[in-house]
Amino acid sequence: MVRGRGPGSAGAELTPRPWWFGPDVLPAAAADAPFDLVLLDRDGTLNVRIEGGYVTRPDDLVLLPGVTTAVADLSGIGAPVVLVTNQRGIARGLMDRDDLVDVHARLTELLAPAGGRIDAVVVCPHDRDECSCRKPLDGLFREVLARAPWADPRRSVMIGDMPTDLDPASRLGMRAERVGPQSPVDRVVARLLAPYRASPGPADVRRGEGHVP
Ligand SMILES: [Mg+2]
Ligand SMILES: [Zn+2]
Repeated sequence: MVRGRGPGSAGAELTPRPWWFGPDVLPAAAADAPFDLVLLDRDGTLNVRIEGGYVTRPDDLVLLPGVTTAVADLSGIGAPVVLVTNQRGIARGLMDRDDLVDVHARLTELLAPAGGRIDAVVVCPHDRDECSCRKPLDGLFREVLARAPWADPRRSVMIGDMPTDLDPASRLGMRAERVGPQSPVDRVVARLLAPYRASPGPADVRRGEGHVP
């Protein structure tokens, strides 16, 4: 996006940008995909959140139960899967961009055997009150939509563990699903995708070719 340089736009010029790791433009979702975009929070949603700290190294990354299955199922629907994450540890000097890349390489490695993919990652590396992308602000979500001009926010879903993940997504018209100790991500994803799962039609059942319990 090109911003004007006229008077009054200085604030916009100075707003720090989110970090984007992925193709400049995300490939469009398949025509029969139930969602255009799948957005995932990271800490507390995919991996164990480190209380009072940050995942600064690959070895710190511990996946939560059900995550490999959930991300594999989401990866199978034919829509880009994008990680949407605040990483204030960068602003605080506890880690840098290379550390983040290493952590995400580890995440990819852990998800891949089951068939899970992360197609892009968008990061707020900023401290509080210095940008318009740190959740619960919506800059990260707007960045994803700018990279997917073909996508309809109303056909997109955000999955996260905090209201700060879900509120900005909801404000943009996206569906928002919360995970937590009582609602693990694999169960949330199974419920989310259940209406779209192929089920045998009557003809299949008659022929005995469908999945009959
Ligand atoms: Mg979280
Ligand atoms: Zn930010």
